[in-house]
Amino acid sequence: MGKSHPSLQGISCESCGAVHVSPAWACSACGSDRFEEPISLSGKASIVSHTVVRRPSPGFPDAPYMIVVAKLVEGPELLGWLQNFEIASTTIGDQIRFDHFDHRGIPQFCRA
Ligand SMILES: [Zn+2]
Repeated sequence: MGKSHPSLQGISCESCGAVHVSPAWACSACGSDRFEEPISLSGKASIVSHTVVRRPSPGFPDAPYMIVVAKLVEGPELLGWLQNFEIASTTIGDQIRFDHFDHRGIPQFCRA
């Protein structure tokens, strides 16, 4: 596992303040395309939903892997993979944190 410095950027909407994971082109809350300067997100998140993919497919040979929807403490939700997961003990609401983007640009999370 290549470890890069965890850096997750967010931008908040100039008109309604909703935080989005960067890059974003329009605010999903109000439709505005005006954003404040990028901010650093903490990477702290909780699991909103998760699913395990057991079948390898082209480009994704490393099955099984777990896809999670992570809700960041700053508000936005981000789709990513959970590393070193245990299916039986993974539940909604589990605390995780952003670790790095893999070589495909997929956000990788690990347990907090
Ligand atoms: Zn907005």
